[in-house]
Amino acid sequence: METKIYKMGNRATEGAMIGEAARVIREGGLAAFPTETVYGLGADALNPEAARKIYAAKGRPSDNPLIVHIADMEHLSEIAKDVPDQAKKLAEAFWPGPLTMIVNKNEKVPDETTGGMQTVAVRMPNHPVALELIRKSGCLIAAPSANTSGRPSPTLAEHVAEDLDGKVPVILDAGEVGIGIESTIIDLTEAIPMILRPGYVTKRMLEEVIGPVRTDPGMISEDSSVKPKAPGMKYRHYAPKADLIIVDGEKKAVIDKINALTACMQTKGMRVGVIGTDETAAHYTGDVVLSMGAREDEDAIARRLYRILREFDEREIHVIYSESFDSPGIGQAVMNRLLKAAGHQVCVV
Ligand code: AMP
Ligand code: MG
Repeated sequence: METKIYKMGNRATEGAMIGEAARVIREGGLAAFPTETVYGLGADALNPEAARKIYAAKGRPSDNPLIVHIADMEHLSEIAKDVPDQAKKLAEAFWPGPLTMIVNKNEKVPDETTGGMQTVAVRMPNHPVALELIRKSGCLIAAPSANTSGRPSPTLAEHVAEDLDGKVPVILDAGEVGIGIESTIIDLTEAIPMILRPGYVTKRMLEEVIGPVRTDPGMISEDSSVKPKAPGMKYRHYAPKADLIIVDGEKKAVIDKINALTACMQTKGMRVGVIGTDETAAHYTGDVVLSMGAREDEDAIARRLYRILREFDEREIHVIYSESFDSPGIGQAVMNRLLKAAGHQVCVV
């Protein structure tokens, strides 16, 4: 199959290109498209054959359910068994936006889309191309991140092409995404709503709208016997090819430790990568040093994370040392992804 990449940005041609992707989806095929979080790989959410194609293209385990993308509030009542008040309040506050809600599903939603679960994950993305694609297709669009399963999520159309060239007929290219980390997932089928995956919308932001919210203990546990409730969170996701170790502590101590570890690895003939910030990058002695941006610019750090992990894959690095990014806002989500990429290897200095 030939993959066509359509550049967005020219109003004169964009409509027809989105129209073609919409037709592919309506006819049961796949199309990759930008959202504000990461690029998605879309198919008709209510067509089991179409949903199956997503798992095949990504190499995704069939028990890992898909997020259904909608463009209007009425779409939610079309697939939910009931729409809890909390969902209405959260939609009012955060949709369109980077929040996915889990609700009970009705019989319209096939098992293929929900990985056999009786609940369904729903989100209204805040990206004009995504919203136009959903509306033009006349479908609700099931779309996980458009990467090969286990690789970092795509924040550029080029990342999608790297992983899925020849496996998807069309990619809509709108340049770099705005957020760069997948949506926050909140489960509204629990007595107390539970965060299954951290993202741009934080616990505090959610609590301002619906009161107390819990965090899934399985999500943060290093102990693999405590299962996270979102099936996708149990896989060693977002993993670069090199071994990744996070070094946490006071700035000067971290720089010294990373340089000492670097020297030790280099004497063994290993090529070392370092993930630093604009403030520290010049101090590192690694073979490849990449900056996540200015430390106080949390948004830029989130946007760059996956791109940096992919870049290390291309540059034949054996081991990566990373600073820690545990800031109160989206830093929580960055650390969650980084810890998973590192298989929870943290060195505290
Ligand atoms: P992705 O679209 O690649 O960001 O992956 C979707 C994430 O949502 C995965 O971690 C899934 O396990 C999770 N998810 C989707 N549907 C459900 C559901 N019904 N219950 C719990 N987690 C879900
Ligand atoms: Mg994913």
